[in-house]
Amino acid sequence: MQSVTKLRLFASPDERQMLFATMERYNAVCNAASPIAFSERQFSNIGLQKRLYYSIRETFGLSAQMAQLALRKVASGYRSTKEAIREQNKVLAALGKPLKSLPEISFRAHGAICYDARVLSLGRNRVSIWTLDGRIHLRYSKPDHFPAVATVKQTDLVYRDGAFWLYATVETPDVEPAEPTEYLGVDLGVVNIATTSEGEVFSSAATEKVRQRYGRLRGILQKMGTKSAKRKLRQISGRERRFKTDTNHVISKRIVCVAQGTKRGIALEDLKGILLRTTVTKVQRERHHKWAFHQLRSFIEYKAYGVGVQVKVIDGAYTSQQCSACGFVHPDNRPTQAAFLCHACGHTENADLNAAKNIAARALVNEPIAVCSPDIGGEVESQAYKEHAAIHGSMPPTLVGGS
Ligand SMILES: [Zn+2]
Repeated sequence: MQSVTKLRLFASPDERQMLFATMERYNAVCNAASPIAFSERQFSNIGLQKRLYYSIRETFGLSAQMAQLALRKVASGYRSTKEAIREQNKVLAALGKPLKSLPEISFRAHGAICYDARVLSLGRNRVSIWTLDGRIHLRYSKPDHFPAVATVKQTDLVYRDGAFWLYATVETPDVEPAEPTEYLGVDLGVVNIATTSEGEVFSSAATEKVRQRYGRLRGILQKMGTKSAKRKLRQISGRERRFKTDTNHVISKRIVCVAQGTKRGIALEDLKGILLRTTVTKVQRERHHKWAFHQLRSFIEYKAYGVGVQVKVIDGAYTSQQCSACGFVHPDNRPTQAAFLCHACGHTENADLNAAKNIAARALVNEPIAVCSPDIGGEVESQAYKEHAAIHGSMPPTLVGGS
């Protein structure tokens, strides 16, 4: 599996200067080669290397590899732009509008350098990176999801938001997930971001505080409406997003770690379970909407995938109304947001924990509790439909298909 990981580099002021100087020289080479590639319509990498490699090295004093990499950036830049314009022109032609032609490309002074393994190597704690002044060794921050066994295919040095980053394209071996005999159920919610079937709760209190603080600040800035207020607005929305992303990384890491350590799979509900439950107040819906459910789910999925933990997505209908002890389904089983009380057997429990247990149980049973459409016939009529019909005397509306 190929994925891109962003690694932040820590560089001293001197090292930053070396990186800037290298970027500037590299992009100057690109800008020198670009008009020639353009006027001669030479967009193949090999063709461009043949045409310009020696003169570039003589003029710019780059190492052989760096000269090659700069020319490759020019060639691939033209090829991808050409492809993009061809796609745009299909639309323009259909609309009867004038077509676009390929422009001459220019490169930003601090645009990305595409390194390969000969000029950049990633160590356990440091990265060795080629600059005009020789190789330098920089510390980098390794995200916790960075795979332990990975082959780095290509690395781009990127300058963004005042810092240097490596965008590393890594190849990880595909681990065949084992079929688990038990599942850790995870209930995603509004008040609690996640609750596991063994009772671990990840509250949204901290993220909610941050959201409220930024929300107030956002209100003030929006009223001001000045240019600097708008800039500040962009800044805080970035900060809020990063805080949420970090939170999701922590939660997903913990959940995957628990499942891996106990040799269990992870059970998540599909979105209809969440959507059915969140017909609550407007404030909550907004809060809900803002919280990156999709992100948390995808973090759990890819971290689990990386370590061979199986993830099963179950039908989420009625997970919050069903009793995890006796299986009885009723909307009144949920007297408050936080509490579950079964009207059949009297079982009482935290509502999210009860839902998480149902999710874990459904993953193990391995049969969907609801079917796509009630008109398929009585044979495939599911338990949930029967129960709903028994309670309300009608079928529930057709549910959205599972993910
Ligand atoms: Zn019960």
